[in-house]
Amino acid sequence: MPFAYFERLSRRQQGIYLRSDKITAVPLPGAGALRPLVVELGATLESGDRALTESACQLLANGLGRALGLPPVRVTVLAARPHAKWGELHGLYESTGKPGRPPTITLWMRTAQQKRVVAFRTFLRTLLHEMGHHLDYTLLRLGDSLHTQGFYQRESHLFHQLVTDGGPGMATLDEQLARMERTVNDFAAVVKNVSDAQLTKRPDPKNWSAKEVVCFSPWTTRSSCPSSRTAGRWNASISATTSRRRSPP
Ligand SMILES: [Zn+2]
Repeated sequence: MPFAYFERLSRRQQGIYLRSDKITAVPLPGAGALRPLVVELGATLESGDRALTESACQLLANGLGRALGLPPVRVTVLAARPHAKWGELHGLYESTGKPGRPPTITLWMRTAQQKRVVAFRTFLRTLLHEMGHHLDYTLLRLGDSLHTQGFYQRESHLFHQLVTDGGPGMATLDEQLARMERTVNDFAAVVKNVSDAQLTKRPDPKNWSAKEVVCFSPWTTRSSCPSSRTAGRWNASISATTSRRRSPP
């Protein structure tokens, strides 16, 4: 059964919704080869170093893109989440719509109030969530990216291909992190040859592009959003899964 906001969508959007909802899996070729990047991301996030976390996110996004056949996407990691009455902003996907300029994903690595580093699984989920929007617009060519049940199933599928703790004979993520025992400096050496383009920061956080997808946790509401709407330069989709976003999965 579709989310309640389905009834408020246009016919075109309802068609997109139904197509999105039917796609429940994203097989990830070579997922095992990407797991070390996930572990690296966990280590850099835990270090609290924004620049290294951004680099680790970019490397994982590059790896996911190669595995799935996606065009490039640029990842920026900022500090504390923006927040307002509606909740905290977790992630943002923006497409410039201009040839040669890759879309951007912006993630925030600290909570709005306490400024604590976000729980790793939540952070990884958010990155995969935003990659899901990228997937919708590029590989799946849905024409819009809506928070359907299928969308969340795709996000979960990606997550569980990358995080395999609990599986037979597999170390938990924490065990993998402990085993790595790699320092932040080790990782800095790993990424030192990453191009500036890959690591480029967003020049102006307020200068949104033409088409955007906003993903946040509406802490204060249980709205039946997401509603995809076009308002001026904004095309925003607001997460409906409040319970999923309130705590680490
Ligand atoms: Zn979203």
